[in-house]
Amino acid sequence: MNLKNPVIRLPPERIPTHWINLAPYLGYKLPLISPKSLKPSGPEEALMIFPKGIVMQEMNFEDKEIEIPKDLREAFFYANRPSPLHRAYRLEKHLGIEGDDIKIYYKNESVTPTGSHKVNTALAQAFYAKEQGIKSLATETGAGQWGSALSYACALVGIECRVYMVRASYQQKPYRGILMRTYGATVMESPSEKTEIGKKFLAEDPDHPGSLGLAISEAVEDTVVNNDTTRYSLGSVINSVLLHQTIIGQEAKMQMEMAGDYPDVVIGCHGGGSNFAGLAFPFMVDKIEGAKPDLEIMAVEPKACPSLSKGLYAFDYGDTGHMAPIAKMYTLGSEFIPHPIHAGGLRYHGASMLTSMAKDKGFLDSSIHFQTEVIEAGITFAETEGFPPAPETNHAICEAIKQAKEAKEAGEKKVILFNCSGHGFFDLSAYQAYLDGDLVDFEYPQDKIEEAESKLPQIEGF
Ligand SMILES: *Cc1c(COP(=O)(O)O)cnc(C)c1O
Repeated sequence: MNLKNPVIRLPPERIPTHWINLAPYLGYKLPLISPKSLKPSGPEEALMIFPKGIVMQEMNFEDKEIEIPKDLREAFFYANRPSPLHRAYRLEKHLGIEGDDIKIYYKNESVTPTGSHKVNTALAQAFYAKEQGIKSLATETGAGQWGSALSYACALVGIECRVYMVRASYQQKPYRGILMRTYGATVMESPSEKTEIGKKFLAEDPDHPGSLGLAISEAVEDTVVNNDTTRYSLGSVINSVLLHQTIIGQEAKMQMEMAGDYPDVVIGCHGGGSNFAGLAFPFMVDKIEGAKPDLEIMAVEPKACPSLSKGLYAFDYGDTGHMAPIAKMYTLGSEFIPHPIHAGGLRYHGASMLTSMAKDKGFLDSSIHFQTEVIEAGITFAETEGFPPAPETNHAICEAIKQAKEAKEAGEKKVILFNCSGHGFFDLSAYQAYLDGDLVDFEYPQDKIEEAESKLPQIEGF
């Protein structure tokens, strides 16, 4: 065949059979800490909140591989797995790097039914809930990617879904809410009248815009009140979610092998850490085990919320309301509310426990970009590769373009692989702001870090 095919596909039977658990590779054994007692919390507390299968994975620090149930692998077919790997020939041409000295590949997670990698863990979580006989899952959503993914997964598996969506986002992105309802989910603007905590905040301010921290508190309260039928679901940050995403990197490794390449650098945007870890962890294993000591692994964050790049590595609260467990992570402080940049999925004050430890041990680097340069990268990508990525994803693309240009200037060879975590068809307001000249840049105020340090919970013994 003489056609230059930019898309590398895997046959369905090569959907991975196992997830990769990075915890034993890192020697990760840290407990989650109860925000009330400031002591390690046992599985009993977690079992009230999460499905049992998820709790078991969350606390598995021994098994390097965990088997994916057969029915779940079948569900991945419906979600368009294995997802394609693309060689970005047209982007390369635009950057003036035609030839094979500098190559750019991307793993395309935008092809899932709701448009992002979040479907991978949503299906797993819905599956374990169904297996346990749980009737409904409650969750929160900010930008709406997670709420859409879980609504889809619950519809596929046949359980109910209740989503508390931050009111400001609900009003900014009505189509995300409509998509969730189309899948049969019940969507509440948060703060809502459904929970005590919601009512409390509404009493103070009937037009309260909501926040992710508050929506988490509502979904957890819903779970505790309806504990005979309901469990809670989280879209990023925790070990089990990162575990579920490792099918991305395993597929990418097979596809890179089919292309006859191995990356010099693996890049992903980093909010809670799940899409980054999903692509990077299977490659990171090669670095940790010494097979690829020079592999560069790069997490990319917004300048407005640089948790890994500028945060403290310490035990901190997982949410603003201090209801969720305390964990050791890179953090800007649980009270830090980042500027409302368009990449809503990257506005978390912390980073996942596993990516944090990997950073601390020197297995990954991080970099930061302004939102204007990030959207510019997204526009370049749309013009060359054909679709607008999510604002979050554009952080990874921005870094990939920067590294390609640097390699060109230095006359170096480089194979670049990044994760295209999602498409941006529901996020066109970000592109509109840029095109209309209304996009503003924000930078994290570094003088705030001392205040954050003074407010960390004091945990003894670890
Ligand atoms: C949620 C989301 C992110 C950020 O979350 P991570 O857990 O860091 O991956 C990035 N990209 C897209 C498209 C998302 O929906």
